[in-house]
Amino acid sequence: MADQQTPASTASANRPTPKDWILGIHAYVPGKSSGKDGRPLTKLSANENPLGTSKAALAARAAALDPSRYPDPDSTDLRAGLGALHGIAADRIVMGTGSDELLNLAAQAFAGVGDEVLYVRYGFSVYDIAARRCGATPVVAPDKDYGTDVDALLAAVTERTRVVFLANPNNPTGSYIGRDEVARLHAGLRPDILLVLDQAYAEYVAPEHSDGALELAASASNVLVTRTFSKIYGLAGERIGWATGDAALVDMLNRIRGPFNVSLTGQAAGLAAVADQGFVEASRLHNAAERARFVEALNALGNHGLRPLPSEANFVLIEFSGKLTAEAAYEGLMEHGYITRWLPGQGLPQCLRITIGTAGQMDEIAAALRTMAEAAK
Ligand SMILES: *Cc1c(COP(=O)(O)O)cnc(C)c1O
Repeated sequence: MADQQTPASTASANRPTPKDWILGIHAYVPGKSSGKDGRPLTKLSANENPLGTSKAALAARAAALDPSRYPDPDSTDLRAGLGALHGIAADRIVMGTGSDELLNLAAQAFAGVGDEVLYVRYGFSVYDIAARRCGATPVVAPDKDYGTDVDALLAAVTERTRVVFLANPNNPTGSYIGRDEVARLHAGLRPDILLVLDQAYAEYVAPEHSDGALELAASASNVLVTRTFSKIYGLAGERIGWATGDAALVDMLNRIRGPFNVSLTGQAAGLAAVADQGFVEASRLHNAAERARFVEALNALGNHGLRPLPSEANFVLIEFSGKLTAEAAYEGLMEHGYITRWLPGQGLPQCLRITIGTAGQMDEIAAALRTMAEAAK
């Protein structure tokens, strides 16, 4: 009987004993899509594309072949399509079940017990999980006003550092460092440290502001770039990510990835989506225009302590330092029919992350925030 009281963390002959490092993991918390009463809400909590998905991609997905057959284990056509678009040899591209799989594989391939995995404070929450999953120690460098501090990252490197993760633009902050800073970070790392540049939002950045990550991955032997179909391509539900880097890095990820890790429909939709760059461009322009308009509306609120942090992504993180708190704004926006992302679990109880939606949605959100800020006592 006493056995039933045994906490999961205690080794027992009567049940499988999880590894200590697995017990240290807190499961990823996804953005919600309904309120406390189960009412469906307009979801601006997961950085999905408000324009939906390319029509060509939807058609290709619907026409995908016999689901009783396994998909191509190597996603050959999709890798060829991505390679042609970005000027990368297809054998330097590896696909993942979302870029999430690839982030985890990168940590697992190059770090383990006794090693350190480094990233900046307020970095993407998957990095902590990826580090712990393989038994490595997550190390967090201080931020610079919520953004990436290259000097702080370099100062946090030790002889045990094996992997450095940088999301650029970063989620949940939206912060971005330019080409020179990325190059400086890379130049300051030992060549045996893997630099993972997570570019989930890269397509939202104006081409002239590119951080040069793909060029770095093409020339350096210790840089892996990850990208995803979940954000600008509007295919989050299909779970498709990809990574590129030195052939030896790609080889390591190929050894440990799931053998059929991109579904039949995912490969078909992804290939058609890559061919429809018009949809990508329209999504980028929509986002840039609506993000600018939203930030302007927030700045016009007056002295209510709402500060939109600079964002290069498809969301804006707002810091609340006045009478209206982030929590109250989060609850109030739910009353208005919108679910956004309040982030106390990531050490940001003072902040709300709002995905850029349609023009009408952003007008409603800005108006609701104004009403709440003016009424707050
Ligand atoms: C959304 C996101 C991803 C993408 O995850 P998928 O598994 O490809 O859906 C990766 N990195 C960051 C920083 C993200 O915000």
